[in-house]
Amino acid sequence: MSTMKNNFDLTSLLRPHILKLAPYSSARDEYTGSEGIFLDANENPIGSVTDQNYNRYPDPYQSAIKSIIGPMKGVTNDRIFLGNGSDEPIDLLIRATCQPGKDRVLIMPPTYGMYEVSASIHDVSVDKAPLTADFQMNLEAVFSEIQTETKIVWVCTPNNPTGNSISTQAIEGLLNRFSGLVVVDEAYIDFSTEESWISRLDEFPNLVVLQTFSKAWGLAGLRVGMCYASTELITILNKIKPPYNISLPAQKALLSGLSTMERKEAMVLEILKEREELRKMLEKLSFVLEVFPSDANFLLVRFEDAKAVMTYLLENTIIVRDRSKVYLCEGCLRISVGTAEENVALLKALESFS
Ligand SMILES: *Cc1c(COP(=O)(O)O)cnc(C)c1O
Repeated sequence: MSTMKNNFDLTSLLRPHILKLAPYSSARDEYTGSEGIFLDANENPIGSVTDQNYNRYPDPYQSAIKSIIGPMKGVTNDRIFLGNGSDEPIDLLIRATCQPGKDRVLIMPPTYGMYEVSASIHDVSVDKAPLTADFQMNLEAVFSEIQTETKIVWVCTPNNPTGNSISTQAIEGLLNRFSGLVVVDEAYIDFSTEESWISRLDEFPNLVVLQTFSKAWGLAGLRVGMCYASTELITILNKIKPPYNISLPAQKALLSGLSTMERKEAMVLEILKEREELRKMLEKLSFVLEVFPSDANFLLVRFEDAKAVMTYLLENTIIVRDRSKVYLCEGCLRISVGTAEENVALLKALESFS
């Protein structure tokens, strides 16, 4: 059972003008039927210049998609927000709560770069409570960094670029005692055995969960991210988003993808098998110092000379991510798990490196 000691109140957390805002009323808000003569949105009535027709605006609230993912995730549609990638809810959450030049957010480096970039775009200060040496949350450091102006704390689990999951007790401790939003980014949850925080939304009104179609689902090019939160917060996000933020082709492709869900499960299993194979082989290399445990679809690997390995791989047109200058990741490269063939090519290249 949780021991709530926070004073969370969404109304006082939101920027006052956002609370008062009247949203743009799109033509499609007024009539929701699908049959009729539509002369309300200044669309081209004849068709499109392309083979496929895209002349009609898409559903602004993506109800067909939410009707499938709601039951799948065990939430009602009014607790789901879909964005143009996870980048969009990240931006909108800051926009909704943080007064530029005044309010603050907190991150736990090393972590995903967009939290800081997005805050900086809004002139919102970013405080840092670094992870411990074993890449876990330092709750004491987090609470010593939290100020009255801190509106959001970002938690990435499994974390990018370290690959590990963040302790459940630490996140509970944060949710119980922090009066702002705790955003748990679960971009890699499908590769992990941990349960999603979505199941605990009822328990914590300050909890926001991000997921994405970009990784396990294999739809990075479509740009669709998910945000799960209280109905009240989802209402606000819907109010401030660009009206048609998910394009018609993206909605169509996603709908068809959701009807072949076994494919996602099969791909995840294959990637997990490849991840363990890759780990075993990397650990055998004399110039590999450490392969960190991963609950994601990548491995963080510490090398004797990361820069030399990176350069050598690039010469062989194998591109990995250099994290060697990142705090706690000194000497590390982040390697996404490829196909069996790609991993063999990577290992072959590394074996001839000396
Ligand atoms: C890849 C990734 C995302 C996904 O971003 P999209 O905008 O949905 O493609 C989100 N968070 C983290 C930590 C990631 O690594």
